[in-house]
Order: sequence, then structure tokens, then C-alpha cells
Amino acid sequence: MAWSGHWDSDRVALVWSRDLLSYRFGPDHPFDSRRLELLVDLLESAGLLRPHDLLPPREASAEELRVAHESAYLEALERMSRSGEGEPGAAERFGLGTEDNPVFPGMAQAAAWVAGGALEAADAVGGGRFLHVFHPAGGLHHAQRGRASGFCLVNDAVLAVERLRRRWGMRVAYVDIDAHHADGVQAAFYEAADVLVVSLHETGRYLFPGTGSIDERGRGAGAGRTWNVPLDAYTEDASWIEAFRRVVPPLLERFAPDVLVSQHGADGHRLDPLTHLALTTESYRAAGESLHRLAHELCDGRWLALGGGGYAVWEVVPRVWALLWSEMSGRPLPERIPGSWLERWQPLSPVPLPARFLDPLPGEEGAFPPIPRRPAIEALNRRTVDRLLGLDAGSLGGPAGRPGTGGR
Ligand SMILES: [Zn+2]
Repeated sequence: MAWSGHWDSDRVALVWSRDLLSYRFGPDHPFDSRRLELLVDLLESAGLLRPHDLLPPREASAEELRVAHESAYLEALERMSRSGEGEPGAAERFGLGTEDNPVFPGMAQAAAWVAGGALEAADAVGGGRFLHVFHPAGGLHHAQRGRASGFCLVNDAVLAVERLRRRWGMRVAYVDIDAHHADGVQAAFYEAADVLVVSLHETGRYLFPGTGSIDERGRGAGAGRTWNVPLDAYTEDASWIEAFRRVVPPLLERFAPDVLVSQHGADGHRLDPLTHLALTTESYRAAGESLHRLAHELCDGRWLALGGGGYAVWEVVPRVWALLWSEMSGRPLPERIPGSWLERWQPLSPVPLPARFLDPLPGEEGAFPPIPRRPAIEALNRRTVDRLLGLDAGSLGGPAGRPGTGGR
């Protein structure tokens, strides 16, 4: 199942401390940081986490945050974080105090912890202290330079990519499998020659943020460095995995990155309440395995994985991210969810918790009702595939177009 070439020697880390739980918009908000507690407890209960795996986050400084954000936005975030109250016009100007991004006391610090975790992770991978790092609290891919968006107050993904470019001189491939388009990351690197941005997501026709069409392809020096794979609602595993395999490995092979940054939003799962994709753990297993292999084949193993969306907090997110950690660490998942974890969390959960890590495959007992493969999904539409893998992909550059290689 897992990439079998290197796992004994892979040095892996999980970015974690309870400070990351402070990123919470309130009890009725779908972005629920308890999923991190559920994940870490699940990893510990299953024997998949060792004390020396932990990489503690820190608060990013204002100067560090300014790499990805405008000062006026950061100052507004800080002010409202102190007062705990919105300001007139802040929703329109800064995206703060909206239904998606309500103001809460301490929000600037909470965001700085997530951002600092991503910077620590980028330095650990860039500097070679760890080969693979997973930052499950990260992946806030919607935040824009001057405004909060889609539950994202700061864009830790942009910060991590920028750190890897600027401090470590690396050419970065960013792959985002969240059900929502990676609009904030795309915008940040739309004209960059040394960052490849690939996003697989539910089509924006009916889903936030509405962007991510195949026609968004980068501009200027970044032309041909942005790739979007919009998928129809109800896309199931077989179609999703085919789309991933036909697009992600060939693009990364042609781009020849120094490091892989991936975003693992778990909200494409069939049980997720906010989106309409119909994936099971099988898609996440396949994607994790493929990304792991690509990291070793193309980047000497350098791989930073971020979390992201995921709103089936109890029954999906901890399992999907445990599966990723199992892949990264080479430690096999047990078949069954540990009884101690179920005993602790089932009484608090509004839904029955699954007994196994992996969803049943089609034909197995308890499997989801089948959804037919959809040849009409946008990504598998012939024209789309031709455009995705056509002549333009040949111009991705590769090592000859590499910028400075200091720090490698
Ligand atoms: Zn590995």
C-alpha cells in the first residue's frame, strides 16, 4: 500500500501543540478545531505517533505574515482580535466579521500559530531536518493578500511556499486536493515561474469560491504554471483517481520541483456536509501514495503536507488524515479504530463513529451505494484532458529554467 522504497529512513514530523486549537470561530461554525484533537488522539491510540515526531509550532511574526498579506489587513485583524468585535466596513473591506469569518477574541494569535507552524514545517523540510512534515492545522488556502476568505484568516500555504522559495531557493510544486479551489494560493503565484500550482476541486459553478476553471492557467512568467481540474458534483473514487493520475504525476514530472507542498482538505468525502463530491478513503489513500512516491522520485523526499477543509469532523477527518500520516511515516494502519478512542469520543459525537479506518470498497459489506462513473466530469472530458496534457505542458521548464539553487 504505502511507498515501499524509503520508509525506514524517512524522518517524519507532525506539527502539533494545543495552541493550534485556539483557531476556532465558535460552537456553531463548521470549521471545528476539535478534528485536530480527534486526529492526534487517534494517532496516539493506534500507536502511530511517537513523542519525537512532534514539531511544535510557534507564532509567526508580523514581518513574516507580511510576506503573504497587506499591512492594513494584518492591522485590522490584530485590532479586531484585541477587541473581539467587528468594525464598520470590515466585512466588505477585509472579509472579517462575516458569516464565514466571524470575529473572535485572539483570532490574530490563533492565525499566527497556524502560520508559524507552516513556517517551521517549511524550514524543517527545506533545511533537511525532517524529510516529510504534516501540518494538519494548516492549509488555509483561501486567504487573500488583503482579506480573509472561506474560514481562512491567513494563508499559511502561501507562507510555506514563499519560505521554501526565498530562504531555501527551491522550485515548488503545490498540489491541492481540497474540494474547494485553491484560489488564494493560485492568486499568490499566478505570475511565478518557479511555483507550479495544481488544484483538483469540485467545479465552482455552484460551490465556493466559484473560481478554478481550466482556463485559469497563470500569466506572464507564470503562464502554464497554474492547472485546475474542476470536477462535477457526485464525482466518485474511480473518476477522481483517474483525474488525479492523468494530471498530477505528468505535470510534476515535467516541472521537476525541488520540494512538494500538498494540501489535503478532507471535504471531498461523501459524508462531508459542505460539498458534493462523493469520495471515500480510497481516493485519499491513492492520492497520498502517489504524492509520496512523487516526493521521493522528484524531490529527494522533500514533502510538506498541509490539512485544509473537512467538515465531517467526527467520522471522516481523523481517519483521512490518519491515513495520510500512515503513508508519510510508513507505519501501517491497523484495520480497526482503537476501542479506547471510540469509548472516549462516541459519547460526544452526534453521529455513529466508524469502526474501521478505511471505508468499505464497492461490493464489501457496508459500502456506500454505488455511483456510476461519470465520463462527463469536466476533468475527464476529452477537450479538458487535451488541454491539461497538451502542448502547453511541454513548456513547463524543468531544471533548465531553475532559479537560484542556494540552500539545496
Ligand atoms: Zn517517504
